[in-house]
Amino acid sequence: MKTPERQSQDRLRKVHIKTYGCQMNVYDSERMLETLAPMGFEVSPDVEGADLVILNTCHIREKASEKVYSELGRLREAQARMAETGGRMMLAVAGCVAQAEGAEILRRAPQVDMVFGPQTYHRLPAMLAEADKNLGKGQVDTDFPIEDKYDVLPEERIPAGISAFLTIQEGCDKFCTFCVVPYTRGSEQSRSAIAILNEAKQMVAKGVREITLLGQNVNAYHGDGPDGREWGLARLIRALAEIDGLARIRYTTSHPRDMDDDLIAAHGDVPALMPFLHLPVQSGSDRILAAMNRKHKVDVFRKVVDRLRDVRPDMAFSSDFIVGFPGESDADFAETLKLVTDIGFAANFSFKYSPRPGTPAADMGNAVPDPVMTDRLTALQQLLDAQQEAFNRGCIGKTMPVLMEKSARDPGQLVGRSPYLQPVHIFGGGSLIGHIVNCDIQDLKAYSLFGSLVSGDPALLPSHSFVSQSGAAEVGQSPPIDPKERVCA
Ligand code: SAM
Ligand code: SF4
Repeated sequence: MKTPERQSQDRLRKVHIKTYGCQMNVYDSERMLETLAPMGFEVSPDVEGADLVILNTCHIREKASEKVYSELGRLREAQARMAETGGRMMLAVAGCVAQAEGAEILRRAPQVDMVFGPQTYHRLPAMLAEADKNLGKGQVDTDFPIEDKYDVLPEERIPAGISAFLTIQEGCDKFCTFCVVPYTRGSEQSRSAIAILNEAKQMVAKGVREITLLGQNVNAYHGDGPDGREWGLARLIRALAEIDGLARIRYTTSHPRDMDDDLIAAHGDVPALMPFLHLPVQSGSDRILAAMNRKHKVDVFRKVVDRLRDVRPDMAFSSDFIVGFPGESDADFAETLKLVTDIGFAANFSFKYSPRPGTPAADMGNAVPDPVMTDRLTALQQLLDAQQEAFNRGCIGKTMPVLMEKSARDPGQLVGRSPYLQPVHIFGGGSLIGHIVNCDIQDLKAYSLFGSLVSGDPALLPSHSFVSQSGAAEVGQSPPIDPKERVCA
């Protein structure tokens, strides 16, 4: 059997990465792949035959760890098949389950080679070199290191498409009583504005047209500015908006308490800032918000929404809701339904409360019985789904600017995103990809809009593109992107 060093001399090694959870994990996975590229790793879409498999895990809700252990069980079989062909599949567990479970993962799954957290994945090349030398000796690195991983990660980004994520802030100091993030991701840290601007410029030079700024508490951003002052998120957004070629800016996930005057004003005067905001409120009851330690009342959320609508009348919102938090009464839940009815959301994410070990809410007692939680979740989702359907249906007959991202499943069809992140399908040539084009919206199927090209720079219009006379929806569709697949941000 060849040693891994020998294998790497003969050929490129393959890495398969499976990402769970939020957009921040998606970003981290991309950065891991970028650290591996100079070591001769190429990405494999399949587990089978991969020299390295990384599970980048999420710990936000129940059974996360158990799901990882089940997946590791399945991977043991893939490892055995690889061994039969004389190869060796290394396994790594990364992300928040790795951070929370640490050495316990090696105890329960001794075939794992590496366990590392969100703050140590820049050490992956060193861990791999060690794993190559000491076959079968598992390593755990879940420190919160002194060095900044962004100083160590490769400077060169390899963006995967037209729209890209950029992490600007990590961790959280808010300690909501239900949430594991302050324990798994550590305290709030903001990257310097210069580092972010450089990364953004590099991505734009490689064809990125839309950047979503990421952070567990992104609007609490307070990084060092190039002028020696501390910059908030609004200042950073204004600087990013100056980058030639960057057409759209988004940010997620925000906390209602951190929506300051400057950020609200930026929504009114920075055209690149999209009129769609994910602003989690969790509950419509002040009593429950206090028990959650959310540090704001319902009225603060309402006022932020009103002020944003004042400066940007076409603003739309999505939010996160938890039902069945300990002690939530029928009256508390009715207040959540009232808030949703009053605000009107364009998209939504709602969850049953899941007790997380080590968080204060897990020891509160007063649990809401599961059948009650189920009934409340069903009622809330019906209301939110109806609002989303109404919002999407309201787009039919409108002309929307769509950033075209890629080919859709059907030949000649492209898919892009509206300002509200709705997938929009049109017929058009590949040269439209990366451009914002105006589309007449004609139909809605599941969560996808269908339309046709009405305008754009004529130079971009390909001679072979055509506009469906009968409405694009009649000629097939790509699988819709179900926003419920997102589990957190
Ligand atoms: N920082 C964001 C905020 O404060 O709203 C949210 C980040 S959290 C990672 C994403 C979402 O997961 C939360 O908004 C919440 O709705 C949900 N969540 C977090 N912990 C949960 C728990 N223990 N049970 C159910 N849902 C939870
Ligand atoms: Fe922080 Fe958001 Fe978790 Fe609250 S819910 S502790 S604000 S990450």
